Amino acid sequence: MKGTEPMDPTHSLLPSDFIRDIIEEDLRTNKYQGRVATRFPPEPNGYPHIGHAKSVCLNFGIASQYGGTCNLRMDDTDPSGEDQEYVNSIIRDVKWLGFDWDDRLYYASDYYEQLYQYALQLIRKGKAFVCSLSADEIREYRGTLTRPGKESPYRNRSVEESLDLFERMRAGEFEEGAHVLRAKIDIASPNITMRDPVIYRVKRAHHYRTGEKWCIYPMYDFAHCLSDSIERITHSICTLEFETNRPLYDWFLDELKVECHPRQIEFARLNLSYTVLSKRRLIELVGKRVVSGWDDPRMPTLAGIRRRGYTPEAIRDFCERIGVAKNESVIDMALLEHCVREDLNERAPRVMAVLHPLKVVIDNYPEGQVEEFDCPYHPQNSGMGSRKVPFSRVLFIEQEDFMENPAKKFFRLAPGREVRLRYGYFIKCVNVVKDPKTGEVIEVHCTYDPETRSGFAPDGRKVEATIHWVSEVHSVTAEVRLYDRLFRVPNPMGESGDFTEYLNSKSLEILKSCRVEPSLQGAARGSRFQFERVGYFCVDPVDSSGKALVFNRTVTLRDSWARISESFKKHQK
Ligand code: ATP
Ligand code: MG
Repeated sequence: MKGTEPMDPTHSLLPSDFIRDIIEEDLRTNKYQGRVATRFPPEPNGYPHIGHAKSVCLNFGIASQYGGTCNLRMDDTDPSGEDQEYVNSIIRDVKWLGFDWDDRLYYASDYYEQLYQYALQLIRKGKAFVCSLSADEIREYRGTLTRPGKESPYRNRSVEESLDLFERMRAGEFEEGAHVLRAKIDIASPNITMRDPVIYRVKRAHHYRTGEKWCIYPMYDFAHCLSDSIERITHSICTLEFETNRPLYDWFLDELKVECHPRQIEFARLNLSYTVLSKRRLIELVGKRVVSGWDDPRMPTLAGIRRRGYTPEAIRDFCERIGVAKNESVIDMALLEHCVREDLNERAPRVMAVLHPLKVVIDNYPEGQVEEFDCPYHPQNSGMGSRKVPFSRVLFIEQEDFMENPAKKFFRLAPGREVRLRYGYFIKCVNVVKDPKTGEVIEVHCTYDPETRSGFAPDGRKVEATIHWVSEVHSVTAEVRLYDRLFRVPNPMGESGDFTEYLNSKSLEILKSCRVEPSLQGAARGSRFQFERVGYFCVDPVDSSGKALVFNRTVTLRDSWARISESFKKHQK
């Protein structure tokens, strides 16, 4: 899915939205000589999250749809918090999502000199001045929504004096906060952004790429529009909070008479229930060790989601389904889960694994005998092949598939009751063995009917349930990590107090003595499976090894999204 190759034109389901409408209009009027150039501009101060995926899919998707290009640009103009580790994570994750920027990986920090020259140009034009108010004074002077701004006493400094001071700011003569460079726009503007915004400040910090070379750094609003222009971007797509910054975006480009003036378009950011999508909050979770790291499978980061077993296809499908709009909304986490479930339903091989083992002894099955059942990997896709699953006298089944005193509507194994083993025989419970101390059933004794190997009884009798199993001696012990939502409330940021108070203490459950069928021995890290009747799982890419298998639960089989949309439909009737 290269940014330069148009999508298959026969694709009839190309997305359409207000941004694409704008682009199509610009193409009709030949505004940018038929060019479409977008960019994804993350600041490398954290790992990308699912919200970034929305922006990635949008920017790269549009470029691909209209035969344009999409650049990957590190928007690295603030040395504090930026790091090469984050650059690496961004590159890895955007690639993983399936997008390609060819050789167009750019860094705003590569434009520092050019940006500095632009700033000098503004000063010479009388459109920027060095202001020597303190940060607090500047804030005070700029006013508020209800209080008008007041001009800085330094606003009418001569061009020469401002040039001199600005050059000395760069040369390192001043402490942080002693002077800043401000645009001279309109202190009376109803839009606070336009009230002589700061465009450069002194910052004595090490930059992960430019080191100590610079001690002044451009502000986002100044650097961003000019970086877009330098890269000859046509459509600069950003999130809604930058709407009030658009006049400033345009002001810089107009004043500097740049050759390429991109068009800024804002869309609503992704908000997702039961999680937080803000790098600052995510850093906090990592820093406080509430999670194991950026790639903790409970994190909404792409690293975490990937480790959890999500596929890039599922994420892209999710981003397409949520679409883009101009109004803020919160997307239900259940929709994301629905997307991965649908994708894995197609692609994940089916296998058997018992998470909470209960021993079953088949009394009438010869000791030492082993049969191999040929079991297809996918019920609808024979192309996925099959594997042999060994069957023997002692099995494990799921504890919850047996009840000594079956409750109403419990149709699975119980004393005197017959069920079918998946891919195998009918078995009937004839006896149980209990722990003499606790009274807990620790072994279930059954008989099997050798005539039912096909899964049907020749006499036509039926069973109410089919349960999964593994053979005791053949199965492999595995650790299984069950994940649930990271927060126990839909909107942790909307609650009173600190958002970390709303963490779900049951978001991780580790099961150490699960038993999986022998075909899983040596399963590759990252590979995905459906554990029949249980859920979708993937081999943990970090902790799993040939010696000790570790599985992450990607998602359960239960589709709460289907339920939600069902009830939604009912309500609409
Ligand atoms: P955060 O609030 O998580 O720090 P950010 O906006 O500061 O996010 P950037 O690295 O500046 O993070 O974001 C890169 C791009 O991704 C920007 O264009 C931004 O608008 C977009 N983006 C960030 N968060 C979301 C989101 N939740 N939904 C859609 N797009 C997003
Ligand atoms: Mg940002």
